[in-house]
Amino acid sequence: MALMMSLRFAPPASVAAPPPRRPRAVASSASSPALQRRRPQNVPGDFFVDHRCIDCQTCRWMAPEVFKRVDGKAAVAAQPISDEHRTKALQALLSCPTSSIHTEKPAKDILQVQNMFPLPIDNHLLPGVYLCGYHSQDSYGATSYLLTHPDGNILVDSPRYTTKLAENIEKLGGARYMFLTHMDDVADHRKWAERLKCERIIHSGDVEDVTADVEWKLTGNGPWDIGADFELIHTPGHTEGSVCLFYKPVKALFTGDHVAKSEESDDLDLFLMYSKQSVGLQLDSMRKLLKLDFEWFLPGHGYRIHYKDVHAKDSAIESLIANYTS
Ligand SMILES: [Zn+2]
Repeated sequence: MALMMSLRFAPPASVAAPPPRRPRAVASSASSPALQRRRPQNVPGDFFVDHRCIDCQTCRWMAPEVFKRVDGKAAVAAQPISDEHRTKALQALLSCPTSSIHTEKPAKDILQVQNMFPLPIDNHLLPGVYLCGYHSQDSYGATSYLLTHPDGNILVDSPRYTTKLAENIEKLGGARYMFLTHMDDVADHRKWAERLKCERIIHSGDVEDVTADVEWKLTGNGPWDIGADFELIHTPGHTEGSVCLFYKPVKALFTGDHVAKSEESDDLDLFLMYSKQSVGLQLDSMRKLLKLDFEWFLPGHGYRIHYKDVHAKDSAIESLIANYTS
């Protein structure tokens, strides 16, 4: 199965010099460095992607009407033709981990779009589940989520720290926990913990120097109790300490890098070339997910997947395992 997605630990050579991390909320002037870096693969018009894109997929799943993959990186394939498409393109601009998306003209509505984050994903199907946006280059553009809950909110992995996002998360009740799925997607975890006074959680198998001060280090295979509506599932393989979070009321599984959707098809994929620990363990960890009553995969990278029922989810997992074992 072709692998088109790059994760933090395998950056392409073209990003050897990290670009500035802050999003451009204003336009690029004709002489600006950004405009000079405009990829020729963009269609003419206001929005464009620069050549420092790291091909993390984020803009393509946030605003698929506008952004496509062209010659190995993102490009504007169609300028926004509606207010909805423009809003989604600006959400992608703010979320781009390398600040590679720009507009030629001043984006006067950028502050309005900033205030949309965290973004509700689907008020009907996933009530209380939000996208944080503001992806970090430190986690290779990983997605972070906010779950609002009466017993205290949970941040899943770390967005890039910005005061505006912090203010907006506080308006939603802050966070009781910051759950870190694994070592690759911790980004600005310390700044968030200092601001929100949340308790960080990571598995001891994935603790590094940057996470040595995390408050709660999970050991063994659990179970671990963070509330009756949640279950933490140890899913080693991608890393020793990879853990998925199962949010039972909405039948959603937050997977970190344990599993993701192929960009070329509707299939699940494991990206085994990035498996840091053991391919066999990662497949065993997929088998654990057959026992769980969920319909959504919310991965650390790439597109979300919603199955019509648990049987369809199990069928997809069985196909994935068969692909790698037959
Ligand atoms: Zn990872």
